[in-house]
Amino acid sequence: MTTTKPVVRSAAVYARISSDVSGEKLGVTRQLEDCQKLAADRGWTVGEEYVDNDISAYSGKPRPAYARMIADLQAGVRDGVIVYNLDRLHRRPIELEDFVTLCEKVGVRDVATVTADIDLGNDDGLFMARIFAAFAAKESGRRSARIRRKMEQNAQNGLPHGSARPFGYEPDKVTVRESEAAVIREMVARCIAGESMRSLANWLNDSGVTTVKGGPWRTTTLRQTLRSPRIAGLREHRGQIIGAAAWEPIITLVQREQVLARFAARQASGRRAPRSYLLSSMLRCGKCGNPLFSQARYDNDPPTRRYVCQKGPDHGGCGRLTVVAEPVEQLLTEAVLVRLDSTALADTLSGRIQNDGHLAELGKTLASDQVLLDELAGLYADGSISAREWMAARNPIESRIRDTERSLSHATETTAIDGLPGNGAAVRSQWDGLSIDRRQAIIKAVLDHAVINPGQPGARSLDIERVRPQWRL
Ligand SMILES: [Zn+2]
Repeated sequence: MTTTKPVVRSAAVYARISSDVSGEKLGVTRQLEDCQKLAADRGWTVGEEYVDNDISAYSGKPRPAYARMIADLQAGVRDGVIVYNLDRLHRRPIELEDFVTLCEKVGVRDVATVTADIDLGNDDGLFMARIFAAFAAKESGRRSARIRRKMEQNAQNGLPHGSARPFGYEPDKVTVRESEAAVIREMVARCIAGESMRSLANWLNDSGVTTVKGGPWRTTTLRQTLRSPRIAGLREHRGQIIGAAAWEPIITLVQREQVLARFAARQASGRRAPRSYLLSSMLRCGKCGNPLFSQARYDNDPPTRRYVCQKGPDHGGCGRLTVVAEPVEQLLTEAVLVRLDSTALADTLSGRIQNDGHLAELGKTLASDQVLLDELAGLYADGSISAREWMAARNPIESRIRDTERSLSHATETTAIDGLPGNGAAVRSQWDGLSIDRRQAIIKAVLDHAVINPGQPGARSLDIERVRPQWRL
């Protein structure tokens, strides 16, 4: 069949590293050796070896070496292709079609594989290649189904999953780490006795017990640990407890029920502040700079709403500053309304509007960074990069995303006050009828934050000097 064809003068040898679990584990060296041997048998000269280090062509990830080979074929630099097996070349039938189209266009008819001789130049060869490609695509799908089934199976057998070491267990996730198990038992006992998560987190942090990652405890992490089915020896799969686990329990099932009952009771009586704090997230402590949190004081009726600097595991403030909510809200509202009428604001706003093209740019940056993050996660998920490399690459992107989001929200928040500048008086007359969300949006558009300075002990009214607004506009 090949007798009439001119001999290949510069073949491309293509190899791909794959973590094919089921198939023959074929190292790339072996692939290349076999391809070189085939080239020698046929009397083809090899121009270049193209090697991609990806796990599955099915994932649709870019393959730089493959792209380079296609470009070289297109440019006429290579006139033949040798690959160990067609599934190294393509996993998706559409890729094969593109490849065939290209070969026809540039007149490359010599495509050889070690495992099966395919001549794309005739219909039989093309038919075979298409069947191979369709088969490979199906195999790829089957492989992910196999992985999923394996996970289900692990769950049914009570085997552990996940990558992080759970608190209370050794890295094998099965052997109990006694030092941490003792801590869990004590926490569970204290929680059942009514101690709050905050107090328990303080206790852990003060006694130098860190989380698995070596950080301080927060009430959220603590709650997660205490309510996790794992410490009671239960295996959870997709949010459902499916049976006994293969590891030893640290607490009893009865203790687990008691902990859950505690959490449920606390949630029901939760002193969650009503959403009536106009300046949430907009005030800072004049002593330590931390944000102030809304908190009601229940020894009066009605309770006194206050903004306070909170210390402790979730907040980290100095805990030494409090301001009564109502006067500071009135003062800052008034200041915002006056500000809406100022010429300085009108000027800043018109400057902002001219910058609107900037918004589109920011949006694009954000979108492309998010794509980057997804791709990185994909590379990590299929083992192409290590966790360390993943994190190193991720951190700068994430911080850029935060910056962009900040700029975006700055730029877009001004839309909350479209039509309002110059109309402070009109807004003032409607103010009490506006929803708290709307009032908050208007204030946020103009005020970045306000620093609350310490007051005179025992002062009855709010000293205006205590409030230092930092205007955004
Ligand atoms: Zn403070």
